[in-house]
Amino acid sequence: SDSHFPIPVSPAHEDFSLHFPKFVEADNKISKKVEFADIGCGFGGLLISLATLFPDTLMIGMELRDKVTEYVKERILALRRTSSEEGQYENISVVRTNSMKYIPNYFEKGQLSKMFFLFPDPHFKEKNHRRRVISTHLLDEYAYVLRAGGIIYTITDVEELGEWMKACLEKHPMFESLTQEEIDSDPVVELLCSATEEGQKVARNGGQTFRAIFRRIAYVS
Ligand code: SAM
Repeated sequence: SDSHFPIPVSPAHEDFSLHFPKFVEADNKISKKVEFADIGCGFGGLLISLATLFPDTLMIGMELRDKVTEYVKERILALRRTSSEEGQYENISVVRTNSMKYIPNYFEKGQLSKMFFLFPDPHFKEKNHRRRVISTHLLDEYAYVLRAGGIIYTITDVEELGEWMKACLEKHPMFESLTQEEIDSDPVVELLCSATEEGQKVARNGGQTFRAIFRRIAYVS
């Protein structure tokens, strides 16, 4: 249960310098804030690919399962130790938490520029739809932590869930769909499948995927 892992009471209470020691400055403060969050990061494949694509951006994976979180921690530490390039993989980390409950405990308003929801659990039964990581209510929270222009990436191999996530985003007043041109020119998009463990599994089995990629708009005054 949630009581087995510590939850910061506010973003200021999570010591991110422990996650990103190479970004700590002389005053013991961390030089930048986390900008990307991979929600339900699983085994961390996306973070590892993004680490070298955006070496100056801090990113965090959020994962509920204890053993999986520990695995990702070890995987990142091993990459830091063995990388031939100084400082590589220092910009990624993972935290064990329930993202459906605690997103605002970790991020301030407008802090994030990208959020990822890749191959989330489908929760097929109608009575379990409230457990889905994309819902109108949770999109309010994601809109709060995303900055204007920030992007939310979702992908699944379950058609019904893909339609659900897209419909939730379409009807939310704080999100608008990216154009096909914008999707085609975003280098992150191809990683949604190729870099994630789930995406690779779907590709091996020749399965279809369903994406919804939306931008957090500015407040309309
Ligand atoms: N995104 C990864 C990928 O594409 O390879 C993993 C996908 S896996 C099917 C879904 C992951 O979400 C699991 O590792 C699960 O433990 C995690 N998860 C489910 N509910 C969660 C929650 N409330 N908070 C954080 N992680 C959660």
